Amino acid sequence: MASLCSPRTATVHAMALWALLAMGCGQAGPQPDFEVRGVGVMVRSDAPFAAQPDLAHRIESTLGAALDYWGGTFEQVAGMTVTLDGARYVACDGVASAIGCFDGDIRVSTSDVGTAFACVEQTALVHEVGHAVIGDRDHADPRWMDFEAVAAALDGRTGYDGQAPTDCPVAVSVWRHPPHRR
Ligand SMILES: [Zn+2]
Repeated sequence: MASLCSPRTATVHAMALWALLAMGCGQAGPQPDFEVRGVGVMVRSDAPFAAQPDLAHRIESTLGAALDYWGGTFEQVAGMTVTLDGARYVACDGVASAIGCFDGDIRVSTSDVGTAFACVEQTALVHEVGHAVIGDRDHADPRWMDFEAVAAALDGRTGYDGQAPTDCPVAVSVWRHPPHRR
């Protein structure tokens, strides 16, 4: 499909161009699987939690807790996408071993050292929302080394191990990052 969207397409008959636009050739990338408060969510993971019917609600409440922590609003992140990636690492601006990335959109690994996280709250999403709200690529803000309040807000929820419900304790160590190092 990508070749149909090349600039040469502009030379084809106007009606054909309209048809291509209707097929989504004007879009920047793949469409989200669903939306939460204006945030597109793309599920590229077979982690059990990512297939649960509560996923949208859990993402919304995790985003809400993270936005509260960082002093942000859903209006600030509306239009972004959050991708749940089953790979252990997500490619991020030359960093090969990132478990999360913000580059205008958010991608987080759903894999914890080769085993799937049990719930979305355990991923790096809370960390990446911080970059979406305050930027601060150097992690200079002291909040990058805290996260206790957001952990308290998100702890004690249900996780999924296969289809079986389990615990899902959150660990601030996943979200913390010392200053001046990415
Ligand atoms: Zn970071």
